Amino acid sequence: MDEAVARLVLWTSICEIPMRILLVEDNPDLADAVTRRLRRSGHTVDWEQDGLRASGLLEYERFDLVVLDIGLPRLDGIGVLSRMRERGDATPTLMLTARADIEDRVNALDLGADDYLGKPFDFREFEARCRVLLRRPRAQAASVVRIGPLSLDHAARRATLHEQPLELPRREYSLLEILVGQLGEVIDKQELANRLFGFHDVGGPNAVELYVGRLRKRLGHDALRISTVRGVGYLAEAVETPAAHDG
Ligand code: CA
Repeated sequence: MDEAVARLVLWTSICEIPMRILLVEDNPDLADAVTRRLRRSGHTVDWEQDGLRASGLLEYERFDLVVLDIGLPRLDGIGVLSRMRERGDATPTLMLTARADIEDRVNALDLGADDYLGKPFDFREFEARCRVLLRRPRAQAASVVRIGPLSLDHAARRATLHEQPLELPRREYSLLEILVGQLGEVIDKQELANRLFGFHDVGGPNAVELYVGRLRKRLGHDALRISTVRGVGYLAEAVETPAAHDG
């Protein structure tokens, strides 16, 4: 590891925020090692071995980071990335390339990869590069949503209630973001579980109940009402604020 990388590792280890990561890698040993490292840092990791399946998953699931190998069965990493960018999906993507293949790297960057790493790689460098990408604000999410006294800043992943910061752990924030994004719609509890915990994580519907309970407590009664829809899931609605009548 050279000095620049060492500095990068030091700088980026200061702040660790757990995120949801999709790893697309067809080498099971490498995938296993990467998954372990990322999970040890508290991240939720979904693993796909096949490019076409990964591409399908990316169409309806949101991730904070995609780690994408180039040589993959059915659809290669370049194909997965170009489909993402064509859809307007700007999820930060770290490409894994064969060390010698300059052409692959150039292709990947031209198509909108955020960074690349040649195989074989040093895990400390891999983690440092992931951290840099995870901390980069997402261009497409630079909006602030307001619901009465509640305000959500998607870019900063911060919420305030009555102008006071709401200290929300990452999953509670993600839950709030999903509920606010589908205001007035019933959201299936299993879908919430998938989006919050990843397909292979322990969590599931019972954990969703726990997080909804916590979020209700933090929000109180004057911004967002989160109702339980028996046997289905949850419904979030804006709480009507009493309007001033002018005679
Ligand atoms: Ca491969």
